[in-house]
Amino acid sequence: MTPDAEFGYELLVCRYAELAWRPGEGPRPSLVARQLGTEKRRWDTVVIEVDPAAFAARRAFGDRTIDSDLLHVVRGAPAEWAWYRDALPHPGYPWRYVRRAVHRAAGRDLIEKRRRNNRIELRRKRPYPDWVERIVAIENKPDLDRSAADRLADQLEHDVETGLADEAWLATETTGERVEPALLREMPVEAGILATDFSGGVDADAADVAWHPSGLGPAEGERRDPETETLRLEIAERAYGKGWRSFADTMRPDCRHFELRREGRALVPYCAAKEKVPTGRECSGSCPSFSPEPPQWRTKGWPIEGGPGKGLKLVLHRRRERERDRIEGGE
Ligand code: SF4
Repeated sequence: MTPDAEFGYELLVCRYAELAWRPGEGPRPSLVARQLGTEKRRWDTVVIEVDPAAFAARRAFGDRTIDSDLLHVVRGAPAEWAWYRDALPHPGYPWRYVRRAVHRAAGRDLIEKRRRNNRIELRRKRPYPDWVERIVAIENKPDLDRSAADRLADQLEHDVETGLADEAWLATETTGERVEPALLREMPVEAGILATDFSGGVDADAADVAWHPSGLGPAEGERRDPETETLRLEIAERAYGKGWRSFADTMRPDCRHFELRREGRALVPYCAAKEKVPTGRECSGSCPSFSPEPPQWRTKGWPIEGGPGKGLKLVLHRRRERERDRIEGGE
């Protein structure tokens, strides 16, 4: 399968996870994102299992990611007014950057700030909740051949060693056939294997657990070091702000060839000119086949198929909001 097809597969896995997480065990409130991780390791699909009440409290801080500098301020902001240098833990870098982050956080309404005797003081608006329960990394490989299996085994091994995620999985397509057992045996035993069959589109029954994962988190009674905990929260925040439908932000839904197609219960981008799922890279401003949607399209409240870019973005945006409502409701 080509890298293009892998992009399409990744979107289907994301939608499946949204519908069915956690496979084999029954639903857990979770949000799904794609292409996230650290400098050293980028995961294809990331599932963040959440506590619904704490997730609702997180939503009160708005829709956007709270980045690492802002997290330092938001998590440390006290209940009563205090000078920011007294209130916040030493950042390990110059305070002037923290001051900037305080202004930024106040500008986004995440905290309150005021100036007293020429000092910047801050106070929290609400406590930042402990909303992340577990982080699950999924590698997507629709066609598992020898070289892909070797690469994946290395990557999953890395996940097992770092313990940044609570669990790691490989998702691979079976289309009714058995996955090659010899290749699967080479995966680290700790990694789960999800055997998908998306030939009929995506729904909650479109995958089976071929191998159950074991937890990668700290042993009972132990904790992760604070640096790892912070990194995990940063990943979860990026997942929250980005989700997996953000492809519409970089692709060209305003091109007349751009469509959203149904694959069962998933909507995936489709290029009618190239007759395939375009990757983010090719569906961009430099695409030679780009053709702007005719202006008169914009005047007609177009439905999902083939309509103007704005309408498509709105559809994806609404879906994301609906998912957030569902998670908050504990589904
Ligand atoms: S023609 Fe190019 S810009 Fe238009 S939808 Fe296809 S890939 Fe995207």
